[in-house]
Amino acid sequence: MTQSKYLSDTVSALKPSGIRKFFDLAASMEGVISLGVGEPDFVTSWNVREACILSLEQGFTSYTANAGLLELRQEISEYLHGKFDVGYRAEDEVIVTVGASQALDIALRAIVNPLDEVLIPEPCFVSYAPLVSLAGGVPVPLHTRADDHFKLRPQLIEEALTERTKALLLCSPSNPTGAVLSKHELQLIAEQAEMHDLVVLADEIYAELTYDEVYTSFPSLSGMRERTILISGFSKGFAMTGWRLGFIAAPAELSGAMLKIHQYSMMCAPTMAQYGAIEALKNGMQDVEQMKKSYRRRRNFFVETLNEIGLSCHLPGGAFYAFPSIKETGLSSEEFAEKLLIEQKVAVVPGNVFGESGEGFVRCSYASSLEQLQEALRRMAVFMEKASK
Ligand code: PMP
Repeated sequence: MTQSKYLSDTVSALKPSGIRKFFDLAASMEGVISLGVGEPDFVTSWNVREACILSLEQGFTSYTANAGLLELRQEISEYLHGKFDVGYRAEDEVIVTVGASQALDIALRAIVNPLDEVLIPEPCFVSYAPLVSLAGGVPVPLHTRADDHFKLRPQLIEEALTERTKALLLCSPSNPTGAVLSKHELQLIAEQAEMHDLVVLADEIYAELTYDEVYTSFPSLSGMRERTILISGFSKGFAMTGWRLGFIAAPAELSGAMLKIHQYSMMCAPTMAQYGAIEALKNGMQDVEQMKKSYRRRRNFFVETLNEIGLSCHLPGGAFYAFPSIKETGLSSEEFAEKLLIEQKVAVVPGNVFGESGEGFVRCSYASSLEQLQEALRRMAVFMEKASK
């Protein structure tokens, strides 16, 4: 496709997301089982949908405060305190955003000066590097290692530092690897952040979905609250992707700056979705626990079977992704994903779309019914059988 001469250089240089190509191909075929999409297979709980409908019936259809409904911010503040032991004032430290996506965008735009460097552990969520570029910064990949289960280690930060390093984008549990950093591992990162005066954008969108250890929220660590922008939302844990609702929590000076951007570019998050979210936080935690139980069961089954059929995979501690190695097949990630889709009609995402260090792996979402997972694994076993001949 030729590019319009009217585009900015930054936008011209952005590549379209590699995930889309596979979705488009899969959508044009029949009988495909998709392990490609990064979203829950559950429908949002009925009481949450009902609260949204009720708000519409009552005619609550105007803008909310820029930062979001105070009642929702109070719920978020209590939730963060009760669950993750971090304290943020509802009045001036919490902003309700249009998904964690917008939260990431305004956080980066608030802190990045032209050519500031932002450290991004890879493989990572596809939006991170483009959002840094759009904010005028320079994304600097940190290549985590497969044999270290893709965990961010302090040494990787140390090696990448320059006088322009401004921030670290931390994602635990990780998309696409499912890696979760323990409290001790986070403490080592915190020491680096302190030593080199880094702002930390903690993307904790999968915080509700950890299966083996008690979760540690980064700003709960000693000294980290002041330098952290906490980013989270309702999409994953609460099964609310289409509601487009996330939030930011940060010290008032940072929140105030982000609120300026939010106010000019977005005004506020959708009002009816905010009423749903109040209900989700007030009465939805049992459902979150149920969904989590179900993901844990699927994870155990899925990853065990992947290993049995020759796709070596570490048991991921969180999110709903498995990230098996496909190196045994001798194929590249893209070749593997394309062949698997065409020959066996199973859609997975090639690991290289999440950064160079994802090459040799594919991302499979296990947020599907056990029956679908069983059938997908059966097809993958046939594929692996053929590939080994
Ligand atoms: N961060 C990560 C790590 C994600 O995986 C996603 C969604 N795939 C987001 C942020 C964006 O989520 P939201 O739907 O809240 O915009």
